[in-house]
Amino acid sequence: MAEEKSKVLEGTISLPYRWALGPVFTRFFEEFKDKKIMGTRCPKCNRVLVPARRFCPRCFEDTTEWVQVSDKGTIKTWSLITFEFSGQVKKPPYIQGLIDLDGTDTALLHFIGGVDLSDLEKVREKVKIGMRVQAKWRDERQGNIQDIECFDVIF
Ligand SMILES: [Zn+2]
Repeated sequence: MAEEKSKVLEGTISLPYRWALGPVFTRFFEEFKDKKIMGTRCPKCNRVLVPARRFCPRCFEDTTEWVQVSDKGTIKTWSLITFEFSGQVKKPPYIQGLIDLDGTDTALLHFIGGVDLSDLEKVREKVKIGMRVQAKWRDERQGNIQDIECFDVIF
């Protein structure tokens, strides 16, 4: 069978969207205005979920209790981002990490700050899993994830 010819068209698709947060995510982000990080507790496994969720993804039980957790935590894992790609809110280089906030049983993805990024080779020597971090709140908060600028490493 002869090889078939196929042309490729290139272009850009723009996809504006609106996403209804629902009552749980709405409260989760509204509490940021008062510098509070709130989770929800699963009545079956007792885990505290952050970001707050309407139901436990492990037990499929509706969460019933709101719990304020610390804005301090521990780096569970991290990554140094040095390349640009579509959708970034920050220009590289920057560090993102999964953070176990004190009093939670799930990790929160956010930026890690307070680390000198002028020499990228030394970042691996400075940032370690298990390091303590604390939320760096913005002065002007609007009730979204960017109310926390980053989680600064506590050296
Ligand atoms: Zn559960």
